[in-house]
Amino acid sequence: MGRVMKLGRSGALLVTLALASAALAATSPVPDAVEHAARTYITRPALEAPIRFLSSDLLEGRSPASRGDQITRLYLQTRLESMGYAPAFANDAWQQPFAIVGIKAQFPPTWNFRAGNERVGLAWRDDYIAMSGLQSEKVAVEDAELVFVGYGIQAPEYRWDDFKGANLKGKILVMLNNDPDWDPKLFAGKRRLYYGRWDYKYESAARQGAAGAIIIHTTPSAGYPWQVVQSSWGGEEFQLPAGEEPRLRVRAWATEAAVRRLLKAGGQDLDRLLTAARSRDFKPVPLGIHTSLEFTNKLSQVETANVGGLLPGSDAKLAAQVVVLSAHHDHFGIGEPDANGDRVYHGAVDNASGCAQVLAIARALASLPQRPRRSLLALFVAGEERGLLGSMYYAQHPSFPAGRIAADINIDGGNIFGRTRDATLISLGKSSLDAIAESVARWQGRTLKPDQFPDRGYYYRSDQFSFAKIGVPALFFDDGTDFIGRPAGWGRRQIEEWELKKYHQPSDRLDGSWNFDGMIEDAQLDMLSAWLIAQADALPTWKPGDEFEAARQRALAALDAH
Ligand SMILES: [Zn+2]
Repeated sequence: MGRVMKLGRSGALLVTLALASAALAATSPVPDAVEHAARTYITRPALEAPIRFLSSDLLEGRSPASRGDQITRLYLQTRLESMGYAPAFANDAWQQPFAIVGIKAQFPPTWNFRAGNERVGLAWRDDYIAMSGLQSEKVAVEDAELVFVGYGIQAPEYRWDDFKGANLKGKILVMLNNDPDWDPKLFAGKRRLYYGRWDYKYESAARQGAAGAIIIHTTPSAGYPWQVVQSSWGGEEFQLPAGEEPRLRVRAWATEAAVRRLLKAGGQDLDRLLTAARSRDFKPVPLGIHTSLEFTNKLSQVETANVGGLLPGSDAKLAAQVVVLSAHHDHFGIGEPDANGDRVYHGAVDNASGCAQVLAIARALASLPQRPRRSLLALFVAGEERGLLGSMYYAQHPSFPAGRIAADINIDGGNIFGRTRDATLISLGKSSLDAIAESVARWQGRTLKPDQFPDRGYYYRSDQFSFAKIGVPALFFDDGTDFIGRPAGWGRRQIEEWELKKYHQPSDRLDGSWNFDGMIEDAQLDMLSAWLIAQADALPTWKPGDEFEAARQRALAALDAH
């Protein structure tokens, strides 16, 4: 204080200005009570205790259907109940059970193709990798013709349709990975949309009634080398039980070299086909190549469940709509020992930390003197590590109609390295939720950054994606990288080293090195955003032309139909 007194007139003016700008920066987007709840309930002990419990050896890595999985679910439901939440599912159930089907396919060492008198064989692993599309013990494809279908995309918002009404029933579709990326106005340019991902390709082929699909692997178009396809595919695969949806018999990848060999036998040239595929006028090209294929599957089935608690909204009308706060509760269970002999996949960051954040946020929101206008659903989904299965199941059987789910705020992981000047918003650019996140981040004195690794497609790799598919916009943050008190590049190094040494390994465990300050601030950012979404008069909207806008329109139209 003494020093301020000696500053004189201009100094006093500077101080006044500094105070004014501090007051301006501190203008909170939420009322005092909300801010107070965030500070009171989103604290280090509120986060650390559940992480310690969920990642302990006793929970055995929380693999679906294990004892650890059952204890995890009971713990989460008990916490929600004690906070005053109501059971989220029909018949007063806290849990939404579903089955996970395991499929271990046995493909032939050589997959044979025939073009006129020529025979070409693709070798398992070296040339092709495949998974069963059907959940049956024996699958056969008989004398199916191969058809090149370019990118295999139908996207009305880009006036793009690679199929052009061709009859593709029973065919094997050969398709390119990625989406058209040479024009910023087409498929968001370099950014890989859902249309550019392998799961879309197989769904798209199945909608055409095809018998199978072969995606041509190139490292630039996939974003990873063939070894990654070899190591992540061809083992046991997990799915929800098959329903009425169209399904392929075989879902395959083949190397570029193998496809070139195959096409040559049919008198076709891959480069010519690639050029043709770059046009809106592209039409499917029958390749004059046929194949028959038989393989067997070993099937298994286990049961797990999503856990959910509901905080009913206070507004007579808006309470019929819900803001979802989600985090997956599963991890990899017990597996191969690491270098230290540890066999438990603790999943402390992934995703005990996300569960702990949702619990703390749920507690803070339940403590408010006045309940938020919209209802809030704290949702702990199962089977994320098996392929987003729990959130997919919830999206297919939602406790609120999709058109009444305002938004999903998903948390998968947490910052353990300290406070940052920035926050990474993976969903930035997709919906009106950006403005809400922006207002809270600005109040925290932080800047929002887009996905720092756009080629990795993080938006499509956690549970918010299951919500996007039914038209629900999401907020999905990742760690900031600009750490306070650390040199430039330090944050990125920590994150990359963590991914290398701990991601999906037994060593992802809680220890004394964790700094919770950043995680606290991130969870407060999520909580205040949730409150603002719950209070807003209007539902959030996708940015016009977004890849998921049509799904939202369908969900809203379905409400009107009732
Ligand atoms: Zn995760």
